[in-house]
Amino acid sequence: MTDSLLRVCRGCGRYTLGAACPGCGAPSSSPHPARFSPEDRYGKYRRALRDAGSG
Ligand SMILES: [Zn+2]
Repeated sequence: MTDSLLRVCRGCGRYTLGAACPGCGAPSSSPHPARFSPEDRYGKYRRALRDAGSG
C-alpha cells in the first residue's frame, strides 16, 4: 500500500514521499488526515439515550 507513504505538502499542496516538501520545504502530512471518530461524535447521543432510557 504505497498510499500510506504518499504525503502532501501543507504549503503548496505538492505530493511527496518525504516528511518535508522538496519544493518549498514545508512539512508534509498525510493527504487523508485522521478524521473525527464518528463513534466518539455520537457517543454523547448514545449516552444521552442511555441516560433517558435507564430506569
Ligand atoms: Zn511545498
